[in-house]
Amino acid sequence: MIRSILLDKRPVGKPLLTDFQFVSEEKPAIQAGEILLKTSYVSVDPYLRGRMKDAKSYAPPFELQKPMRSGVIAEVVESMHSGFSVGDHVSGMLEWKEYQTSKGEGIYKVDANKAPLSAYLGVLGMTGLTAYLGLSEIGKPKKGETMVVSGAAGAVGSVAGQIAKIEGCRVVGIAGTDEKTEMLKSEFGFDAAINYKTTGNMRKAIDEACPDGVDVYFDNVGGSISDAVLVKINQFARIVVCGVISVYNETSLPQSLSVQPFLVKNSALMQGFIVTDYTSKYPVAMKQLSQWLAEGKLTYTETIVEGFDQIPQAFIDLFDGKNKGKMVVRI
Ligand code: NDP
Repeated sequence: MIRSILLDKRPVGKPLLTDFQFVSEEKPAIQAGEILLKTSYVSVDPYLRGRMKDAKSYAPPFELQKPMRSGVIAEVVESMHSGFSVGDHVSGMLEWKEYQTSKGEGIYKVDANKAPLSAYLGVLGMTGLTAYLGLSEIGKPKKGETMVVSGAAGAVGSVAGQIAKIEGCRVVGIAGTDEKTEMLKSEFGFDAAINYKTTGNMRKAIDEACPDGVDVYFDNVGGSISDAVLVKINQFARIVVCGVISVYNETSLPQSLSVQPFLVKNSALMQGFIVTDYTSKYPVAMKQLSQWLAEGKLTYTETIVEGFDQIPQAFIDLFDGKNKGKMVVRI
């Protein structure tokens, strides 16, 4: 028998363990043209919260009583498919199951000799691509500019900040613990970092950390943190609206700054970003991220939780900031 995790209830507010259900089922058997995949690593991501709602978005909602799915790294343990051999590792949007079959559609091989497998869910996966493409397509950081990134110690934020450093920017990160703000400066080379939970006055903290104003804002969180940054933007600033984790669990529409005056008077650009709009650019982005990693210009951290039964808790913990870098579950 194998285990599988279903969405049992649509969460109201912060997700609870009781919103998920573990079920046991027969280990699936493959047929001609299929492979059997054994799950190795499961990615938990804030955007999954949006798919747990029954609301229109860029990705369809998860169905109740059906398996959750996210980025997964799996090993091919049986193959009746000409394109995959036993022992291959693959990445894809797969179900939260210990074993599952696949016809090979929408999955691609990853090389365990080139990078640790978990990296293909982070810096060499969706979150690394998000950081790279959010900046290359919208943020466009230039040498000498100041970039602020929120959610800075997370998977996307920590890579986005380092890329802006590579491009020659002054980089200021916003994160939720002193340990994280220290890490941003000592491990990732950020110029300054603000703990939004203890700073007391975010606007003053941004003023002090960004004496020349803000040219690029890579926003992963939205809400009042972003309001404090938006009042400090410079002429022709670019704001990458990548995520709004501070409102994902809200049950009513949040109150926010009226941003239009700040955009108009600064001729600024504020644009929503969804990484899957740029799939044609993934190969170029992957090549550059891999090269920076190999050259030691880019580094990454991850929080690896152990065990299939811990997947729901690891997901919930994202909303309490329990992760540094990419949150991944090893099975
Ligand atoms: P992270 O690794 O950044 O994990 C989430 C982090 O968010 C936590 O560690 C926590 O850090 C912070 N956080 C949680 N609650 C709040 C809050 N109320 N206010 C401020 N910060 C909070 O996740 P990802 O890097 O995977 O994702 C970051 C953002 O990017 C998310 O909003 C996500 O939805 C978005 N995203 C968007 C994509 C796109 O295509 N548009 C693709 C991938 C991600 P702390 O301790 O600092 O609070």
